[in-house]
This record gives sequence, C-alpha cells and structure tokens, in this order.
Amino acid sequence: MQTQDPLIRNHNFNEVALGFSENEAILEASRCLQCKNPTCIAACPASVKIPDFIRLIKEKNSRVAYDTIYKDNVLPAVCGRVCPQESQCEGACVLNRTGRPIAIGALERYVGDESLKCGECKDEKIIPNGKKVAVVGSGPAGLANAASLRRMGYDVDIYEALHEFGGVLQYGIPAFRLPKTIVESEVLRLEKLGIKFHKNVIIGKSLTIDQMKNELGYDAIFVGTGAGLPKSLGVPGEGHSGVFSANEFLIRVNLMKATPAMDYPTPIRIGDNVAVIGGGNVAMDAARVAKRLGAKNVFILYRRDKSSLPARLEEVIHAEEEGIIFKLLHNPVEFIGENHQLKAVRCEKMELGELDSSGRAKPVGTGQYETFPVDSAIVSIGENPNPIISKATPGLETDRKGQIVVNNHQTSIAGVFAGGDVVLGAATVILAIGEGKDAAIAIDEYLKKI
Ligand code: FAD
Ligand code: SF4
Ligand code: SF4
Repeated sequence: MQTQDPLIRNHNFNEVALGFSENEAILEASRCLQCKNPTCIAACPASVKIPDFIRLIKEKNSRVAYDTIYKDNVLPAVCGRVCPQESQCEGACVLNRTGRPIAIGALERYVGDESLKCGECKDEKIIPNGKKVAVVGSGPAGLANAASLRRMGYDVDIYEALHEFGGVLQYGIPAFRLPKTIVESEVLRLEKLGIKFHKNVIIGKSLTIDQMKNELGYDAIFVGTGAGLPKSLGVPGEGHSGVFSANEFLIRVNLMKATPAMDYPTPIRIGDNVAVIGGGNVAMDAARVAKRLGAKNVFILYRRDKSSLPARLEEVIHAEEEGIIFKLLHNPVEFIGENHQLKAVRCEKMELGELDSSGRAKPVGTGQYETFPVDSAIVSIGENPNPIISKATPGLETDRKGQIVVNNHQTSIAGVFAGGDVVLGAATVILAIGEGKDAAIAIDEYLKKI
C-alpha cells in the first residue's frame, strides 16, 4: 500500500497509509490461495471469513464482501487499519513462507472504505422485541454490543461520558492512523440502524447503574467503559509541569484540537525536545503526534530491546521513517526540574536478563545512568480501568487492577454485563469488538430466561 512521504507526513495529520485502488485490491486478492483449511481465520480473534471476502473482492463484489466481514466484525474499515495483523491473520497466512503474506488488513480496509464511500447503510429490517438495553461507553466494545443487540430487536441506548463517540478510536488513535470521518461514519451507520446515542453522560456521576435499572427501566446494562486511567511511573519529579500522561496528551490533541493549525484556546506546548516513555502503540502514537506538533527531537525511552517493543510493527517502522529516535534499554528513574518545570529526564541503562512471567527477557539495571535534557516527557506505560462506575455501584466486583470480574460477561450484579478493556485490561480493538458481540449473546440468553 502506498504511503505519504515520511518527511511530508510528519508535518501533517492526514492519513499515512493511502489505501488500495480497486486494481491493487483485485491484484492482491488474486494472490490468495483460497486454502481449504485457512490458518488465517483461526488467527483472527473475530474469525472473519477471510478467504470468502477476499474471493468476493476478486469477483468485484465488495458489497457482499462487506456483508461477509460484517457478520463477524462490525468495524472493518477500523480493524483493517489498526489490527496487529502481523501477529494475527497475516502472521498465520501460509504465504508467509514466501515472505509475502496476503495483505488481509489492507483488503479489509478496502472493503470497509468502499461501503462507507457509497454511504451504504445495511437496509435491515429490525423486528422490535419490546426490551431495552443500555450500553455504557461508545468504544469498539460498546458499538459492537449495541449493533448485535439492535439486530436481535432490542431498543438500545448508548451513554458516553465524552462529547464524541468512538472511545479510543476517537480520542486516542490519531487521525493520521484512523481518520475521524471513518469513526463518525460508523457511528452514523449504527444511528441509522436505530441505536440512540447520548453524549456527555458520565455513568456513576450523572446517572447510576441503579437508576438505570430501577428508574429508567433498562432490562439489562452492558458496561464497556474501557481502560482510560493512565498508570504513572512513580518516580521523583513526575508532577513537574511538562510531564504528561499519553492519555491526556492524545485527548488534548484529538478531542480538544490542540494542534498548531487550529486556533483553539487550549494549545499544548511541548517544546523542541520530547521524551516518550514506553514501547506500545500508545507510545508510538504520542511520539508521532509530538513530531507533528513541531518538536525537533522526539525520542522513545524503552527499558527493553527493539524486538520486545509491544507496538504494531507498522507503527514502529512508520515512527522510525518519520524521524523518531529509539533509545532502547533506558529506564527513567527521575524527572529533573527547575521551579517545577521539567528540564531533563535521568535514566538507568539496562541490560536483558532471565525470562520473566510474560516470556520476555527481564530488563536489569546496570548501575550506569544517562541524563537527557528535555522540554516535555510523555508517560505511556499502560492504563487501568477508570474506577468511577465501580465506586458508585455497590456490589460490582472488580479485581486488584480495577477490572470488572465477569462470568460469561455477566458481572456480580444480575442484569449487568461487561466487556472490552474494562474486563481484559488494555487490549486491542478487535478483542473489544469480540467481547461486545459475545456479551450481546449472553444478554439475549439472560433476557430470554427471565
Ligand atoms: P474504549 O475504546 O476505551 O471505550 C470506552 C468508552 O467508554 C470511552 O469512550 C469512554 O469515554 C467511555 N466511558 C468511560 N467511563 C464512562 C462512564 N463512567 N460513563 C460513560 N462512558 C464512559 N488497539 C489496536 O487493536 N490497535 C491499535 O493500533 C491500537 N492503538 C491504540 C492507541 C492508543 C492511543 C490507545 C489508547 C489504545 C490503542 N489500542 C489499539 C487499544 C484499543 O484502542 C482498545 O483496546 C479498545 O479501544 C478498547 O475498546 P473498549 O470499547 O473496551 O474501550
Ligand atoms: Fe485480520 Fe483484524 Fe480483520 Fe481479523 S479483524 S481479519 S485480525 S484485520
Ligand atoms: Fe488466503 Fe493466506 Fe488465508 Fe490461505 S492463509 S486463505 S492464502 S489469506
């Protein structure tokens, strides 16, 4: 797939990967061997019927290709862009042995985009069943849950704390990876299906789960509130001005338009030298956004080696092409400031030791230190669920990380279900979609019994 030139794109927020033309998609689809036992399907968390939709692209039938994907994955244009394909579908394609697996993600994106281009709304007939369900959170888990329930005939209301719908797809993943028009079109498609969206409602503050059940009369509630509470490093100086969490940084740019091109009253000033701490997708996004905001030197501080970076391979490659510097085997131990303004970050140099419980080599301190002068630092070392709902809901069981405890998506409170990052911890879009879909089946079974 063609991409924008790295030295041009690192100054703009337009999409990096430009997508397949029809000819390119057909050519790529023609390479698929249509395996009898497709290993690619088993490696997709949503079990998308990959060879079927690829065959339909080859036959120039992207409309039916879309329907084929949609049965398993309600957000093809999104997943085609953001799934870690190299460790899922594409990683299991038999053509890996030739070094050129089928570009399944790019083909899925092509089908999703074609369907959005022609403004297609699945003209489905919904047969109302007289029951209503509330979905809390409009991220991929909530959207997938709502879509599945609506098709089963439920009246569905989505409640979202923020002023835009889409969860991380809207406030976290930057527009140069996932244009906001894609997310908005997917929301519109669900509105056309009859799902009602309510924004600026914080469940647990504006309205409680108890009120939703007992006063608003919802027959069931699905909680898909994600993992939006950033973890802190817990090192001295983390409170200095100039130290951001990636969550705050990305929300201010994505939702509050704090970009140089926008004349908004809430700008974000990051200076010339920016350190990003962490090695996942969120860290890559924060670093690439910092570069686009005009920082001259952006470097990633990561305590393990390159092969351990948890980010999608494509994001690492794109970040490097855009001039992001990787300072590997460096672990921040202190943020140094003057008058509470960040001036430098001090790191211990690390080396790799024995394998730890995650199966990766454990970083071990060497006792040698290096200090980097910086204007800003963005901490991106993971997220936990926000405790607002659990604190406001007596009897809702959570674990020590604040994740909601479920049994087949049923929480400790009858009629209240949960899924996505709020149950799994920070995971992936397609896993959240799968959770939302499976929870809809559990809700339907529950409501049919009572
Ligand atoms: P979320 O997407 O977090 O949505 C939860 C929603 O609930 C939010 O809109 C939130 O505002 C709302 N909410 C929270 N509390 C309340 C409340 N009390 N009342 C009402 N609403 C509430 N995954 C990938 O697969 N590929 C990637 O490339 C990738 N990149 C990422 C980049 C970033 C910057 C981040 C942060 C994550 C990334 N992820 C990626 C992870 C992925 O986005 C998440 O796993 C996924 O979005 C989880 O979906 P969810 O629906 O469970 O939660
Ligand atoms: Fe691959 Fe993700 Fe699509 Fe599954 S949903 S086929 S993992 S891109
Ligand atoms: Fe096609 Fe690869 Fe799947 Fe085989 S494994 S059906 S070649 S995508």
